[in-house]
Amino acid sequence: MAIEDDVLVIGGGLAGASAALAAAERDVRVRLVTYKQSTLRHASGLIDVIGYTPDGEGPLVDPFEALPDLPEGHPYERVGSEAVREALAFFDEIAGETYAGSHTEANALVPTHGGTVKPTARYPVSTAAGLASDARDTLLVGFETLPDFEAPLAADHLEAAGAPFSARGVTVSFPGIVRDDAKVTRYAHLLDHDESVATGDGETGARNALATTVYEHLEDESRVGFPAILGDDHADEVRAALEDALGVDVFEVPMGPPSLPGMRLEDLLYNALEEAGVRMTSGVPVVEYETAAEGETDSSDGDRIDHVVVDRNGTMVPHRADQYVLATGGLVGKGVRSERERVFEPLFDCYVPHASDRYDWFVDDVFGEQPYARFGLAPDRELRPLDADDEPEFSNLRAAGAVLGGYDFAAEKSGAGVSLATGYVAGTRAGTEAER
Ligand SMILES: Cc1cc2nc3c(=O)[nH]c(=O)nc-3n(C[C@H](O)[C@H](O)[C@H](O)COP(=O)(O)OP(=O)(O)OC[C@H]3O[C@@H](n4cnc5c(N)ncnc54)[C@H](O)[C@@H]3O)c2cc1C
Repeated sequence: MAIEDDVLVIGGGLAGASAALAAAERDVRVRLVTYKQSTLRHASGLIDVIGYTPDGEGPLVDPFEALPDLPEGHPYERVGSEAVREALAFFDEIAGETYAGSHTEANALVPTHGGTVKPTARYPVSTAAGLASDARDTLLVGFETLPDFEAPLAADHLEAAGAPFSARGVTVSFPGIVRDDAKVTRYAHLLDHDESVATGDGETGARNALATTVYEHLEDESRVGFPAILGDDHADEVRAALEDALGVDVFEVPMGPPSLPGMRLEDLLYNALEEAGVRMTSGVPVVEYETAAEGETDSSDGDRIDHVVVDRNGTMVPHRADQYVLATGGLVGKGVRSERERVFEPLFDCYVPHASDRYDWFVDDVFGEQPYARFGLAPDRELRPLDADDEPEFSNLRAAGAVLGGYDFAAEKSGAGVSLATGYVAGTRAGTEAER
């Protein structure tokens, strides 16, 4: 017996979560099936809409000015600017007070751990006091045991890049941490629970010990930036305690993987999924599908998927739905794969446009525009993947996020924005269709 739902979303990253949440706005039963960790835990937690044009122009002040000029086939061109706005508004409702940036359509410039600034549309409130458009002088604090963030170097880079404030960096030891392989979650845990740590003056809470260490280095700066390790479950509380003790604003600088802001975003989305009544099947892959019997399909719109099969540790469980959303990620998430001779989508074998000669998949210049970065499915405006003849592969399958092609998320800084917007559109359409 198949497990029955109205909408089945495959993939639990930002695109799949957005699709499931959007579908759940309708009066339909929604299930999300996901396998391994998504890129949410590695990404910065920022929601970048677009920071640079495909020609490399930028940083863009207003992403919405750039959207109408994107080439045909770009995911934003497929869904249209209005859908991007709606998706951001949808995200704002879910994120509530935890994210900032909704007051303007312009990009904010968020300092990164490398000392560059990143144009982004929505950012965690923990980063808000650090925006590069803010002229206040800044002290950046790094930790001896966390070499990924070299605060003095990052401060120099920010100044060299023309930041409108003076930046200074110091490296201190983090009270209570001696091992340089401590996970970022260990730092966060210490602060979340204000664990007692040993200092030169005896035992004290980790928050107080950190504030005391940093206070000695504070000169006239009115804000202090830390790597993004300031708590997990109680991040607001930790930041407020440090601000209180230091008497200045405190902000987090987004870090590389694994990323606490990314984990917090994942928690936010998964809590919202639970609240929305989305059924979750985690840790198992969808491995196969069956199409509907002949006669039950409108051939002009492609075959109809009848059910997919989930591999629950060797037990094959059919899941049937009216509508499906494929959000299995790109080359990183393995939603798109490449072998010597071909690039393919492994689950439904949807068509992935690419040159037949593999030497045309990349260019020698490592900083050049790499064709493989744009590999992925080519959808119609309904986000249904198209076959080589531009016909929908399946009438009831839509795709969202990094599994789509036609954009280079790393170069454009558009990864999360595309996942959010296409997830929102695919989920809304799937939900509406299933409700009929
Ligand atoms: C290191 C890194 C940093 C980044 N930083 C930023 C940033 O600063 N700003 C930004 O905007 N974007 C950033 N991005 C890009 C952005 O994170 C991604 O573009 C976006 O999150 C992709 O989301 P997704 O849901 O499409 O795919 P993914 O996050 O890859 O999720 C796909 C999910 O599908 C699951 N799945 C795959 N196959 C199956 C199957 N057969 N059955 C069930 N489940 C399956 C996977 O296990 C995974 O959980 C970054 C990406 C990376 C890798």
